[in-house]
Parts: sequence; structure tokens; C-alpha cells
Amino acid sequence: PVLRVAIMGLGSYGSRVADAMQACVKAKLVGVISGTPSKIKDWQSRFSIPDKNCYNYENFDRIKDNKDIDAVYITTPNALHHDEAIRIAAAGKHVICEKPMALNAKQGQEMIAACKKANVKLLVGYRMHFEAKTLEVIRMRKNGDFGKIMFFQGLCGFRIGDPTQWRLNKELAGGGSLMDIGIYAINGSRYMTGEDPIWVTAQETKTDPVKFKEGVDETIQFQLGFPSGAVASCLSTYNMNYLDRFYLNGEKGFAEMQPSTGYGPIRGRTHKGELTQPHVTHQTVQMEEMAGIILEGKQPVVAVDGEEALKDLKIIDAIYHAVKTGQKVDLKLS
Ligand code: NAD
Repeated sequence: PVLRVAIMGLGSYGSRVADAMQACVKAKLVGVISGTPSKIKDWQSRFSIPDKNCYNYENFDRIKDNKDIDAVYITTPNALHHDEAIRIAAAGKHVICEKPMALNAKQGQEMIAACKKANVKLLVGYRMHFEAKTLEVIRMRKNGDFGKIMFFQGLCGFRIGDPTQWRLNKELAGGGSLMDIGIYAINGSRYMTGEDPIWVTAQETKTDPVKFKEGVDETIQFQLGFPSGAVASCLSTYNMNYLDRFYLNGEKGFAEMQPSTGYGPIRGRTHKGELTQPHVTHQTVQMEEMAGIILEGKQPVVAVDGEEALKDLKIIDAIYHAVKTGQKVDLKLS
């Protein structure tokens, strides 16, 4: 069987996913949801999409009656994910949603509940969970190659351009760099250490309050504490290019990746040598694996479901709270 997917929000990432899916065997792009008729036309000719599989934001609830679509992949701005996912679930289709899954934990919980009620899957676009070098480091960590994990460092950022884009609009983005790119350090700290944090501290710095308005963070550094005693030190920013580095250290060894979460190829080494796993387009592997999860009940090495994404949203909520109060915030993720 093939997972037949419609993409909602025909922007830059949706387009990247669509192109990558052309190389998939188990997943196929068959539909679109967009508010822009000219984009729909363009995608129809690019990907041979029939008229009956094209929807807009007013009528997409009718996807319920479309037997030829199994799942909708949401690639719209962050603030729209919540309502869109709930409508897709109500239409009886599986939901694949981009990160961040929602703006906060409360929204995330509502999305999980809606998908459970509709008996559809909710998966989140955590493409690194399927990336070969990342999976090798996780395998080595589980194998004890690094010894007891003591420290993780996650540095994630890029220099953002156009000040009018939705990423710098609190209403649509829900925050700033942390929601968008810092989430890779948050999520990475969990899959690299294999633990969920129990506390967080955080500090914000803003050098350009004109570009980064109230509620839109430019730079946040945060620290996470894990049950084993391991700690993480992370930086999320919208003002530096080429900031894309993970470092994991245990009592016996280390892993270092740079770039660590970009579109690739990922590069890295451990105390045992270079990581040599071949690069495959992340979104191709992700969609192939997600088809396996949805259609065959496959279990990924690192979860990509709503519950997994909810943990990151709880950490994001806690980081913003820690920034605001200056306090150490305790966390209970499960
Ligand atoms: P984008 O601006 O390029 O695309 C967003 C699309 O949503 C546009 O086509 C826009 O027209 C559409 N849209 C629908 N309703 C809208 C509204 N009310 N206001 C504004 N736009 C609306 O953005 P993008 O870079 O493609 O990001 C989309 C989502 O994908 C975000 O949630 C982002 O975090 C995520 N993303 C994930 C990755 C990844 O590697 N996993 C990479 C980039 C983006």
C-alpha cells in the first residue's frame, strides 16, 4: 500500500517536501490545500494532481468524502497548525504536522485528543529522527560507547532576513527563534541523551528590538537538567548564520555533529572516528518511514508522534516562563 498525501500550505517547506516525496516508494503526493488558486494550478501541473484532490481553506473539511487521500501534511505557519490539525482529524484523515506542532502545550494536548477521538495518527515532521548519522550516534549511546552521558550542547540558529515575514510576527509564529530553530536543540537534547529534562533555566538577549518585537525572541540560551544528572547547554538564535552544532559527551567518549540539523549532509565524528553513513534527502526518508508508521504500524527508533512533540512544547513553555521569571522551572514530562 502507498500513503496518499495532500500538502496544506504550498510554501517553501511544503515545496521541499513535495519534491522529496517524488523519490518515495511508500508515500505519494496526491492532493493540495491552498488559498492561492495560481499555486494550486502550478502544483497540479508539476505533480499531476487531479482537480478533485484540490481544496482551499474554506472547503477542505470535504476531504472527508475523498477516498483517494489518506493523510494531510500541514506546512503552514505555526499558529495555524492547531485548528487545521483538528479539522483534518475531524475529516477522518491522518495528520502529519510540521514543527513546532503548536504554539504551546495546551494546544498540543487538544490536537492529540482530537486525533485520538477521530482514530487517526498524529505525526510531527521531526526529520532528524530518521537521519542515518543521528541514528548511529543514538545506537552508539544505547550501546554504551560514550559511557554515562554527562553533557549535551545544542547550538541552533540562522540570521533571519525579511522583517515582514510570518516568522517575525508573534501572532503567526507564536514566538521567535526558539519556536522555529531552538526546538532542534530541545528535541536533540532528548534524543542525544536518551532522557527527558526535569528542570530548565533560560536567559534571553535582544540586540535588535525593532526587528524582534515583544514576544518574538531573537536569542535565548537555556540549560536543561536530566534525571541522571546530565546537563544540556543550548543556544537558539535568529542573528547568527552557520550555527548548527551538537556535541554529546559521556564519561568514555563523545559525538560531535556540525552541521547537525540542517538539510544536510550532516557531518560528524565520535571518539571512534568519522560518521560515514550516506546522506539521503531527509524529507524522502521521513515520508517513507512515516508511511510505514501509518500503514504498517512500524515503530520508529525515536518517536515522531503527538506525545513526543508535546514534550517539546512543554519544554518551550517552561523556557519562556524561565526567561520571564528568571527562575529555575521544574518539569514533569511524563
Ligand atoms: P512559508 O512562508 O514558506 O510557507 C507557509 C505557507 O503557508 C505559504 O504558502 C502561505 O501562503 C501559507 N499560508 C496559509 N495560510 C496562511 C496565513 N494565514 N498566513 C500566512 N501564510 C499562510 O513557510 P515555511 O518555511 O514553509 O514554514 C511552514 C512550516 O514548516 C512552519 O511551521 C515551519 O516551522 C515548518 N518548517 C519546517 C522545516 C523542517 O525542516 N522540518 C523547515 C522549514 C519550515
